[in-house]
Amino acid sequence: MTLICPECKNSVDLSALPQPLVKDQVVECNHCGISLLILDVVDSGVTAEVADEGK
Ligand SMILES: [Zn+2]
Repeated sequence: MTLICPECKNSVDLSALPQPLVKDQVVECNHCGISLLILDVVDSGVTAEVADEGK
């Protein structure tokens, strides 16, 4: 299962995160440090967007 950071385009290391990953969970990119909100979790990967911390 992989997640490509929408900010820096690097592959985020999901193995270091608490499992299982769930929708609406916020994770931090281990490359650029940005907060990512998980939108969907499927067998092939994880979709996420940059979390808007201003809300
Ligand atoms: Zn990143």
